[in-house]
Amino acid sequence: MRRIDLKRANVARSNTIRNINRQIVLNYVRERGPISRAEIAHETALQRSTVSLIVEQLRVDGLIEEVSGESTGGRPPVLLSLRTADAVAIGVDLGTTRTIVATSDLAGRVLDQEQFETNPNSAKTIQAIIDCSQRFIRRNNGTIEGIGVSLPGLVDPEGKELFIPTFNWRDLPLASEISEATGLPVTMDNDANAAAQAELWFGRPEIREVRDFILVLVETGVGTGIVFDGQVYRGENGAAGEFGHMTIGQGAPVACASGSRECWEAFASERSALARFKDLSSGRNGKSMTSFGDLIDMALRSDGAARTALKETGHYLGIGIANLIRGLAPQAVIVGGPIVRAWPVISTDIQKTVEATICRGLPSTQIIASTLGPEPTLMGALSLVLASKFASIPVT
Ligand SMILES: [Zn+2]
Repeated sequence: MRRIDLKRANVARSNTIRNINRQIVLNYVRERGPISRAEIAHETALQRSTVSLIVEQLRVDGLIEEVSGESTGGRPPVLLSLRTADAVAIGVDLGTTRTIVATSDLAGRVLDQEQFETNPNSAKTIQAIIDCSQRFIRRNNGTIEGIGVSLPGLVDPEGKELFIPTFNWRDLPLASEISEATGLPVTMDNDANAAAQAELWFGRPEIREVRDFILVLVETGVGTGIVFDGQVYRGENGAAGEFGHMTIGQGAPVACASGSRECWEAFASERSALARFKDLSSGRNGKSMTSFGDLIDMALRSDGAARTALKETGHYLGIGIANLIRGLAPQAVIVGGPIVRAWPVISTDIQKTVEATICRGLPSTQIIASTLGPEPTLMGALSLVLASKFASIPVT
């Protein structure tokens, strides 16, 4: 789904493209709300009466609502914001170790969530997703409009064929089974693509001005979601973005999902950081088994081995990011996943490596931490449903 460029949007004046004006108004409310009808009319150069008509329709459709603004003496002004009373989307974040199922409102605020361990038996995992979804649907009395699923694997553009290497799941009828059981449309995408979509729609304000960026998702593996001109780039059969498997060296601390020790994810994933830490702290008691969250906590408390393990991982993240910048020259690279919490420890290592590797004269790309929280892929799953509400041109 293409995100509309508010700066470049030419207001459409024909009935046949009334829909575009509607999307422009809706997106103003989404990005700038609470906002008044007059401000929308002023900024879009649409007539006040046209804005009022569109606003009325959006209210009837349950997408926006009126709220009271700050009074400056007289009657408080009537402003518009997205309607956030109801749960409208279910997001399923299918991960390699656990699956989160959550509901959110139109603005992407998570309202309710459940989680369980992902069972390598696909039938059991699909059934658990269906059970959670049905509970949420019952609890919300018909307000849920769709289900988005993000997963650590390949999904073709129609969402029919998927491949999850960790469990060797191939061509599962995941979407159709969930859809049949719940009666709702189901949209699936690769986790990094979904997280990129979430950055596009619900990320930090700076990203709203950016048309080309790459989301680097660091978890058990490393994935990338590429956004060109405000749209996720999927490539042939949805297979784009597998930069986690580009070769960047030899003898990585762990093997990648496909068994190679030369891939970026073998050098820069959570697992690589844990392996480095284990190596550095061998001989120290009680520190052999640590979770990635614990490793970050220790580094933030200035544990030497934990800091070194993370900083070295940051260095290798920087090598891969430098390659992406050289090849694609995006405006921004966003790093997402639990590693974001370690940003104070790793950001200078990433930045230094990128600066040392990139020739002078290339446009400077900002490298920033995601603000989507520790579960960007859950936000991604939700945005698969929510983005369709805001897309400039309905995609069928
Ligand atoms: Zn690989």
